[in-house]
Amino acid sequence: MARYNDAVCRICRREGLKLFLKGSRCYSRKCAFERRSTPPGMNTMRRRKVSEYGLQLREKQKVRKSYSVLERQFRNYFEKAEQHKGMTGENLLRMLEMRLDNVVFRMGFASSRAQARQLVSHGHFAVNGRPTNVPSFGVKVGDRIEVRDSRRGREYFKVAPETMKAAQIPEWVSVDPSKLSGTVLAEPAREQMPLEFNEQLVVEYYSR
Ligand code: SF4
Repeated sequence: MARYNDAVCRICRREGLKLFLKGSRCYSRKCAFERRSTPPGMNTMRRRKVSEYGLQLREKQKVRKSYSVLERQFRNYFEKAEQHKGMTGENLLRMLEMRLDNVVFRMGFASSRAQARQLVSHGHFAVNGRPTNVPSFGVKVGDRIEVRDSRRGREYFKVAPETMKAAQIPEWVSVDPSKLSGTVLAEPAREQMPLEFNEQLVVEYYSR
């Protein structure tokens, strides 16, 4: 499957925003965006007027790349979001937040979505007792996510409780670091999802 393999920090520079794609590095002085926030490539200092379409496209790319979702899959999310009740843009963000890799990240098991995705695809987690290795798996309210018994002895998970305690856990999930588990308490409300996204522009992009 096609996947973005270029330097990850270029994505932040392209989108003009820190997207926190590299875990602890993003909070350090090594952050490439902190050092150079101009878009990658030549002639980046030249000012260009951005069209309405350009704004919509960039916003769509920003959201899509933040959750590391491929174009086809992102469009599928959008089409499903349109079918649900309520605001399409908000539904879209909520579906992305409820992906298993994102929930693992939100629960503090990983310092970035990319790391969470890797942990999930390596089969370290179970949802409601069932081993699940699909990062896009959609979790539901009440689902319990935990590290599988057979994986708890690994070095990574021996220190994970401390990492979880230090993480900022959103209110819509609860975690029990000592048991290496967490529960989804509710679907996130709009104010509990990334506020830097303008989902209306994404809706406009797909509604052209
Ligand atoms: Fe973006 Fe993180 Fe790289 Fe900084 S370190 S540019 S926030 S991915």
